[in-house]
Amino acid sequence: MSIADAATGTDRTDLEQSMYELMVELFPICRSITGDGLRETLHRIGKIVPLELTEVPTGTPAFDWTVPDEWNIRDAWVADAAGRRVIDFQASNLHVVNYSVPVRQRMTLADLRPHLHTIPDHPTWVPYRTSYYAENWGFCLSEEALRRIPEGQYDVVIDASLEPGSLTYGECVLPGRSAHEVLVSSHVCHPSLANDNLSAVVAGATLARLLTGTDHYYTYRFLFAPGTIGALVWLARNDDGLDRLRAGLVLACVGDDGPLVYKRSRRGDTTVDRAAAHVLGHRRAGDEIVDFSPYGNDERQFCSPGFDLPVGAVTRSGHDRNERHHSSADDLDSISPAALADTVLACLDILRVVDDDATLVSLNPKGEPQLGRRGLYRAFGGRSEQDSLESALLWVMSCGDGRHTLLDVAERSGLPFGIVDEAARALENVELVRRESSREGEGS
Ligand code: ZN
Repeated sequence: MSIADAATGTDRTDLEQSMYELMVELFPICRSITGDGLRETLHRIGKIVPLELTEVPTGTPAFDWTVPDEWNIRDAWVADAAGRRVIDFQASNLHVVNYSVPVRQRMTLADLRPHLHTIPDHPTWVPYRTSYYAENWGFCLSEEALRRIPEGQYDVVIDASLEPGSLTYGECVLPGRSAHEVLVSSHVCHPSLANDNLSAVVAGATLARLLTGTDHYYTYRFLFAPGTIGALVWLARNDDGLDRLRAGLVLACVGDDGPLVYKRSRRGDTTVDRAAAHVLGHRRAGDEIVDFSPYGNDERQFCSPGFDLPVGAVTRSGHDRNERHHSSADDLDSISPAALADTVLACLDILRVVDDDATLVSLNPKGEPQLGRRGLYRAFGGRSEQDSLESALLWVMSCGDGRHTLLDVAERSGLPFGIVDEAARALENVELVRRESSREGEGS
């Protein structure tokens, strides 16, 4: 089965349902850039696709960064004199500033206030805050909840540990015919937030599941690592082999109903950039292609000048950060099964173009061959794409000079890649065309 077959053969309703169920399963886990919540999430993904976990000890350098102490949290609360919890980690893991140092104190509300975070503009939302690289602690709550807390003495407890341990990341590798690789990366460090970035973790795992068992040219590597530090640690550990990487996608915030957005790699004209532009150009109106910028997610690391990898990013409204971003409003209601499935199918189409692209060589380059005599027109008769397929036959023959690829033909003719590929296969079957996998940088 080819990647194209996996895309067309996937039942959309099943896909939507399985992705949403995985969202619901993973949503409650308190993840961070290290710790047991991160490990638990990776273990659950490992039940869907084979996942190899790597533990990188605290203190390990990664370029200008260092793996921090490992953070684990058991419980946290602010309780009044009667023992009633007015802020409770058990109600939502967003209530504690992620990476808070342990605390056990009695203090007045006035003394506690500098450690409390709200979003005054959205009085019912709880903000998501972190303090990874500065020793700090705090609680997050809604502005409304804060207003209801009377002055007085409170017991403040954060039952957490921050001590030497390790940072965990997971990789699912699907070997292809080539050792050259395609990377799909999703940051997996956010706690109970749906779009950022559980949506992309679920999309990455689902893509890996759909590609399992397909016949593909490239080796696919799915990376689930904590944001920034995880990507940097991975890059540091793989610095020697990065020339294997031929294409990549960073997935982030891919579950909302906004249009699909592809952000180009820093180079802007790599195969994956062209494949994504082609696929989005043939999808529904409203999808967007934007240029690289040094903010966003882990494309900032993969595309930094010392790596400059051919890695683009797929997001939906996460591109310009919708209002709900990094707050309790980024809950399961902020994403939809349809958008999750749409993202995965679009990514599958992009990967398919990257994977199937090849140079075309005409075996009848002098003048047009007689296509009718070989039954090629008849083969497409009655198909709804008959005209496009017949047009593609001529384009493939015309571009078969050994310098053009299938994607070149698709771009130049305005025809979808799948049509061009099908026409090329028909021409290969009657020995009018040969395809060579002499792709960009191949053999180097
Ligand atoms: Zn985020």
